[in-house]
Amino acid sequence: MAQVTFDPYLKLEHLAGHADVTRAEKERLISKVMADRRFPDYLYGCYECGICVAVCPSARFYDFSPRRIAQAAARVDVDLMFQQMEEDIWECSQCFSCLRCPRGNNPGGIITIMREVAVEEGRRSAKTALEGYSRIIYKIMSTGTQVSPDMLQPDAFPDWGPEVKDVSENLSLWRRALPPETHHTTSTGWDVAESTILELYVIWLETGALEMIKEVDTGIHMILEEIMEERLEEEGIEI
Ligand code: SF4
Ligand code: SF4
Repeated sequence: MAQVTFDPYLKLEHLAGHADVTRAEKERLISKVMADRRFPDYLYGCYECGICVAVCPSARFYDFSPRRIAQAAARVDVDLMFQQMEEDIWECSQCFSCLRCPRGNNPGGIITIMREVAVEEGRRSAKTALEGYSRIIYKIMSTGTQVSPDMLQPDAFPDWGPEVKDVSENLSLWRRALPPETHHTTSTGWDVAESTILELYVIWLETGALEMIKEVDTGIHMILEEIMEERLEEEGIEI
């Protein structure tokens, strides 16, 4: 892992929260973020121009700023970066509009790395942020598609209004009205070819993506591991 030097004069500014986590632990986690091979490509300093904030949809709705992410990383402000990793990064919608940065920064990319480290490390913030997504994670990793039409249930999404009831009761009919035949499905977003599913399983197993899930949701990890290994074994594919 790359050696990162921390500025000792910056350390007291942001200690108000997360005082239960030692400085050494924060440095370990931030070192891991900065040692990621993508990190140098995502940060070239900051003009403080605010263009990234102006184009960021999350900044419009939350107390969130991609500029603060870039600046904290440029200053190697460990306490602030740790605070952002525990709180702010989960507000980002990963749209990458902030790539318009004239300095060539990629605040959304820095956030991606921070999220990955938070998940790998099984941080409480990652577990909390992903709590409501276990069914979506299961769908993506078992079927290759994200939200499936049969998730449209009135009790699951009461804020979607009364039309959801009508849609859910006639789901199959609505889906068959769509022109692409691959969309005539209700339990998956669209038909995914068997070869693509198998390829995805191999990628998730080989890259360690499945292992990352283990840290945040052991139950989902066990189910997915079983599904993937069984399907690959049936096809005679050895990992
Ligand atoms: S990727 Fe995140 S930080 Fe960048 S513009 Fe989108 S929401 Fe904002
Ligand atoms: S657009 Fe780039 S240079 Fe401007 S504030 Fe954002 S990160 Fe800094």
